[in-house]
Amino acid sequence: MNQNNSETLSFKSELKQVLHLITHSLYSHKEVFLRELLSNASDAIDKVRFNSLDNEALADDDRDWKIRVTPDKSIGTLTVSDNGIGMTRAEIIENLGTIAKSGTRMFIDQLKSVDAAQRPELIGQFGVGFYSAFMVADKISVISKAAGANEAVAWESDGQGEFTIGGAQRDSRGTDIILYLKEAERDFLDVWRIRSLVKQFSDFIEHPIVMAAESKDGETAKTEDETLNSRKALWLRSKQDVTEEEYTSFYHQISNDFDSPAKILHIHAEGTVSFKALLFLPKRKSWDLQFGDVKAGPRLYINRVLIQDPCESLLPQWLRFVKGVVDCPDLPLNVSREMLQQNPLLDKIHKSLVKHVMKALEELKSDDRLAFELLFNELGQFIKEGLARDYERRETIANLLLFEHLNGEPGQLITLSEYVAALREAQNEIYYLSGEDRAALAVNPCLEAFRHLNWDVLLLTDPMDPFVMPSLTEFKSKALKAADRNAPEMPETRKWLEEAATAYRPLLDSLKSKLTALKDVRLSTRMKESASCLVAADDAMDPRMEQLMARIGQGHGASPRVLELNPEHPTVKALFNRYQSSPDDPRIKQYGQFLLDQALIAEGSRLSDPTAFLARINAMAAKELEL
Ligand code: ADP
Repeated sequence: MNQNNSETLSFKSELKQVLHLITHSLYSHKEVFLRELLSNASDAIDKVRFNSLDNEALADDDRDWKIRVTPDKSIGTLTVSDNGIGMTRAEIIENLGTIAKSGTRMFIDQLKSVDAAQRPELIGQFGVGFYSAFMVADKISVISKAAGANEAVAWESDGQGEFTIGGAQRDSRGTDIILYLKEAERDFLDVWRIRSLVKQFSDFIEHPIVMAAESKDGETAKTEDETLNSRKALWLRSKQDVTEEEYTSFYHQISNDFDSPAKILHIHAEGTVSFKALLFLPKRKSWDLQFGDVKAGPRLYINRVLIQDPCESLLPQWLRFVKGVVDCPDLPLNVSREMLQQNPLLDKIHKSLVKHVMKALEELKSDDRLAFELLFNELGQFIKEGLARDYERRETIANLLLFEHLNGEPGQLITLSEYVAALREAQNEIYYLSGEDRAALAVNPCLEAFRHLNWDVLLLTDPMDPFVMPSLTEFKSKALKAADRNAPEMPETRKWLEEAATAYRPLLDSLKSKLTALKDVRLSTRMKESASCLVAADDAMDPRMEQLMARIGQGHGASPRVLELNPEHPTVKALFNRYQSSPDDPRIKQYGQFLLDQALIAEGSRLSDPTAFLARINAMAAKELEL
């Protein structure tokens, strides 16, 4: 190596930790390094090829796109070379001395905490692919010549914390990654091993991955290039010609997921727009979906030439969990990306893809409910985001939602269609109750009448629910109503309630004036066993939404709620009688407060001052037990 102009630099500090973790924790999957290097090489070729579309100087250059793998047993090196875009000195320092993506800290923590089996998935998502080569190499040299540059540059490191950078010789544009394999990893130099790894991981890479292979021609041995990958773009083939394994292996290549997909969509569209697409619905929420800033959209190819990855115009943001490729030969190849965004064909493909994805989700739901429920547990938040954002498809999206429900066992999920199909005779609405945990919701006094009538109630425990459910006011012409605002409408009880309310009016008014922070005190028939419960005022925000907003420092805090009393309950009756005989009795306030306290406890809310509550109860107990 020409050491002119060379300097030694340190890796960014987080990178040191990442390197350490990768080399020590990915051990059972160390062969992924080859896939990572090959896909980097392929990306580098795609970049220069794309740039050469409108750059004459590049177009004249070396366009015999090729990735070469060279094992050299004599010195124990494995080299991956490409004639891609190459890197300048500044780029190499930036790309191979630091981790480009944000959230490295989180990545490190996550990597430490997850099962070893899930680690490879994380590695790919974080763009630390290159560094995985330090699992098998004790030293790596990179020699690269950037497109249009006169000088080549050399980078070298043992992965321990520092790297050197200096000048180098390279005749033409491109990059060589030279791995000095560890003694114990020399079997990666075996041509059979290399062949099978390329087949397994990188078969669909469009550019030929070649390796010089010796063959005997009579007496004389000769060396010829052997292409290791089939290069078949799966999406262009017809469905019958693609095996399950090929789909899965392709999915692994483009997604960084190590699991099989939940659903595969192979689309050959003809008509107003012709395109081919291969999309995948994952089983799980990948790490970057959870914490990262993931852009939606499959890769866009025009006749197998990668144009954009991801192409955001092809899918709405809420479908960012969908991975895949789209190839549309009708798009003009020689266009700028800005002009491409405005091409009306993209809009048509977008519409068609969304339709296909919705249909695939529907099919999964009806054909394999268990798989769909697993998918929904992982990705339901995105579907809910779609409900809030995609007004046009609201009802179709709503039909994909799953909820726990009062009439089901814990963990049992129901769709809105199933809920509607099971409506009771007198019931004309869809009821839901939102709260943190199912067990507390199921015993909330607000639901006693529902339980009594056997009317079902959706129990919404996902923190997103209070935000998205208001965007759905009805489903299949049935209004959606919050069960803590609306009680079942029973015509036979209404008249009785009105009469009772008139008699109770003075007591209710008195309690309202004595108890703080209440919007109103009224009677209701929604309870059967309980004496009291709290419900939201008609004009107030959903109480759970208020809580969640307060947690993120937004909103105006909790709105005053309505205390509802059950006039059939002995305590309420006794309080009424006491008030009739002596309206100024101090116990009216005391027991009114007691009814409010128990409403809070029954719904699982925390009392703001438990000590004061106990003092009140003890005062009442002492009075009761007095001799
Ligand atoms: P990722 O490929 O996920 O971004 P890597 O650590 O594998 O992460 O690579 C970091 C960056 O280094 C790449 O994004 C790319 O810009 C650059 N790079 C890696 N290999 C090559 C190569 N063979 N040719 C040109 N650039 C490369």
